[in-house]
Amino acid sequence: MVNLIIFGAPGSGKGTYASRLKDILNVAVIATGDIFREMIKEDTPLGRKVKSYVEKGLLVPDDITLDVLKENMAKIPRGRGFILDGYPRTVEQAKALDKIAKINAIIHLVVPDWIIIERLSSRRICKNCGAIYNLLFLKPKNDMICDHCGGPLYQRPDDTPEVIQQRIKVYEMQTRSLLEYYREKRIPFVEVKCEKLETPPEVIVQEILKGLKSLGLA
Ligand code: AMP
Repeated sequence: MVNLIIFGAPGSGKGTYASRLKDILNVAVIATGDIFREMIKEDTPLGRKVKSYVEKGLLVPDDITLDVLKENMAKIPRGRGFILDGYPRTVEQAKALDKIAKINAIIHLVVPDWIIIERLSSRRICKNCGAIYNLLFLKPKNDMICDHCGGPLYQRPDDTPEVIQQRIKVYEMQTRSLLEYYREKRIPFVEVKCEKLETPPEVIVQEILKGLKSLGLA
């Protein structure tokens, strides 16, 4: 059983890699951003509350986020580990996490800003099944229609250049102290650099697995 956190700027590919690692490592993936978007889509009372934060690229308050995390962790079958994607975003959140789980390693994705902006502004998502496309290098066969389920593709309201800049700024500011926090706690790091826009996800996933294997975690 392995418990991991994946860090990487929005658009660094965290979600894609986590979902591929999920089956290989037999872990659950908890992606707080996805959970919030689902709540907003379902228009739950809490969804209405988080909407204003998510749409501006601001952090949802810690108390709401921690409740959502706990609720989703409780659903993981016993003996199965997890990959956290999007949590923690603050040192306070990391400390709260320490009280509920032991983290075995940090996966840190290092991706230059220009790649993030290119990738995110051309990202499209299926409204129906959540499949992710990219108009630059992972185009749907039919314009704006999902290859898998025929659902309509949409652009996340926070995937616009202005909001992306804001999200990168928030990410860098918050993550610096988080990475320091885990380094001080001597949690092992698997650091993977992506310097090309078109590097296939398999290549990055293999690099992550190589790092985890060297730590005896895969
Ligand atoms: P993401 O999909 O990880 O880019 O997250 C999208 C948005 O969800 C963020 O811009 C925040 O508004 C919110 N969010 C996701 N995770 C957290 C978290 N751990 N703490 C606070 N807000 C979060």
